[in-house]
Amino acid sequence: MSATTMRAVRLTEWQSDPVVAEVPRPEPRGSEVLVEVGAAGLCRSDIHIMSAPPGAYPYTLPFTLGHETAGRVAALGPGASGVEVGDAVVVYSRWGCGACWQCANGRDNACARTQYGPHGGGLGRDGGLAEYLLVPSAHYLVPAPGLDPVPAAPLTDAALTSYHAAKLSLAQLRPGSTALVLGVGGLGHMAVQVLKAISSARIVAVDVRDAALELARSAGADAVLRADGLTPDDVRAEVGSDGANVVLDFVGNNATLALAAGSVAQGGDLTFVGRGGGELRVAPGLIPYESTVRMPTWGTVPELAEVVALARSGAIHSEAEVYGMDDVLSAYGKLRHGDVLGRAVVVPGRD
Ligand SMILES: [Zn+2]
Ligand SMILES: [Zn+2]
Repeated sequence: MSATTMRAVRLTEWQSDPVVAEVPRPEPRGSEVLVEVGAAGLCRSDIHIMSAPPGAYPYTLPFTLGHETAGRVAALGPGASGVEVGDAVVVYSRWGCGACWQCANGRDNACARTQYGPHGGGLGRDGGLAEYLLVPSAHYLVPAPGLDPVPAAPLTDAALTSYHAAKLSLAQLRPGSTALVLGVGGLGHMAVQVLKAISSARIVAVDVRDAALELARSAGADAVLRADGLTPDDVRAEVGSDGANVVLDFVGNNATLALAAGSVAQGGDLTFVGRGGGELRVAPGLIPYESTVRMPTWGTVPELAEVVALARSGAIHSEAEVYGMDDVLSAYGKLRHGDVLGRAVVVPGRD
């Protein structure tokens, strides 16, 4: 490899596996910052993207996948400031327009202008599954001194998205309340830890896999339930007949959403996070009165800073399986089949 090129995991065709390719190493211009990637997490949404037919996503191919990145600042554009070469950082990959009302309020994740186009690194723009990642601005970097990039990378989506979702229900998470976590994968195992860290709610976790239920227990779940054949009555037998005050569905298929709707308490929060292709119908008789249905996406840059603070304090830690870039396809294969415990993370320098 020459000094001006780098290896990257590129999506070149829809409904195809990505390929590891040699591409030009980007040079930061203007306010851009070049990050040397220490680790990049694999997300189930990468699989949704690569499996999608043309037109399903508003992205132009090719681009580099990867929207969970930790590393070090390698170079700054002439107009960049706020970080220095060598700084350990994690990257917020949901890049907003920076100018709409939502972005002005720090809500890049709800940016009004990038909703229907490329909206971040690994999401239509070149992402972190590469040796280097070009970030539009230091605004999207959160200092992460002292954090190992492998467990740090999943902080930027798996932990951030879980944290944002849980924080939206903070008022419900009072002592004596119950939070039900559906799906203990990359996000769910972080959600259990986040709920433990920011609330005193009782946490009940549900998954089809025994290993995931064990992971939930070690992450702090007070009780676990096996998903196969699980009914809302079974859930209520565990959480109490009133139901769960907060249900966080990290799977989002029709079965989990039906379980969520049948398990949430009257006046509770049902939060639809997983993109499992399911639909939730909202009508009297289908979900309880006074309940709130939310469909959050990502979190904000300030929330990522809060997540990093939780990780630095030791309150949350991502379980990670480490792969080299050449093993990325087998790692995606394991993720597709539900065989990854916690998060699969690629370390570009590991090959
Ligand atoms: Zn993701
Ligand atoms: Zn915006």
